[in-house]
Amino acid sequence: MSPSTSKPRIAVIGYGSQGRAHALNLRDSGFEVTVGLRAGGPTSIRAKEDGFRVKPPAEAVAAADIVAVLTPDMVQPALYREVIEPNIAAGACLLFAHGFNVHFGQIAPRADLDVALVAPKGPGALVRREYEIGRGVPCVWAVHQDPNGRAEACARTYAEGLGGARANLIRTTFKEETETDLFGEQAVLCGGASALVQAGYETLVEAGYQPEIAYYEVLHELKLIVDLFYEGGITRMLEFISETAQYGDFVSGPRIVDAGTKERMKAVLAEIQDGTFARNWIAEYEAGLPNYRRYKEADLEHPIEETGRRLRAAMRWLQADTPAGQAPAR
Ligand code: NAD
Ligand code: MG
Ligand code: MG
Ligand code: MG
Ligand code: MG
Repeated sequence: MSPSTSKPRIAVIGYGSQGRAHALNLRDSGFEVTVGLRAGGPTSIRAKEDGFRVKPPAEAVAAADIVAVLTPDMVQPALYREVIEPNIAAGACLLFAHGFNVHFGQIAPRADLDVALVAPKGPGALVRREYEIGRGVPCVWAVHQDPNGRAEACARTYAEGLGGARANLIRTTFKEETETDLFGEQAVLCGGASALVQAGYETLVEAGYQPEIAYYEVLHELKLIVDLFYEGGITRMLEFISETAQYGDFVSGPRIVDAGTKERMKAVLAEIQDGTFARNWIAEYEAGLPNYRRYKEADLEHPIEETGRRLRAAMRWLQADTPAGQAPAR
């Protein structure tokens, strides 16, 4: 950040879920924002429609005091090596929304750069929507290196521009943000929840119940429960469900998720902490995603998906123009 200017010039590289929300909020907060995208890339039309100056990433980087790296995590190392490091100004601030590449050593930022992290605790669509109505989504922030003494100011300024400071800013480290984000999405939010739903569906259908009824009981109604968690924790769920449901929760829940489950959660966490997960994921990406594609195919072909497609066609509110939001965990 050049100390002479009051408002740093910001380059946002990538215009997906987070990039679009960040760029729009920062511009509305009075920052000069340039979006860096490959010419003809899929999201550059959208950025232009939103009224942004869209430049090739190298040009956007060169003219900025803060460079926000908001491309998919797996393309960031090459982007850093080939585009950012050769062009970013001496003493600028390099900013990430997830600590993966810095924490696992895939990007070793140049020694003269301040390096910070600002991660909103919500998908881009919510980050934008909350900002527009004068509120904000809480953000975690961290500093990796601070040779110019401006890394904390960079993170705070950026988080304020996003609207996060209107809600809550929590200081973390690159290590904590990276490891907890990976654990949450693997054990609970994405991996754990989807496996629980599939196993519940299979159990009911294999026992001879109708697939449609099974879908409603184990997938559709999960939203009602998660909304209660979100609004008021497990306390609020217990206030709203029947006594029968509460008793069943108390006696059967611990039989499904038991001490063995927690042991396996600890094993998953250990492989995140010691770098095994990162190493495997990087190797998978570099091999062209053979297993990733196979796993994904299996999920997409699970019978609950076909049942769901048919049933959702009769739920008119799901066909409304406004999307329900984007995936919370990325
Ligand atoms: P995304 O996949 O939605 O968007 C990626 C953008 O990068 C697109 O505009 C794409 O065209 C562009 N892009 C791809 N390759 C590029 C390249 N080589 N050069 C320039 N642009 C390129 O990504 P996202 O989900 O917004 O994730 C961005 C970052 O934010 C990641 O570090 C992610 O971990 C983090 N994050 C995401 C969420 C979320 O809710 N999605 C939440 C917190 C943090
Ligand atoms: Mg799954
Ligand atoms: Mg029920
Ligand atoms: Mg996350
Ligand atoms: Mg994540």
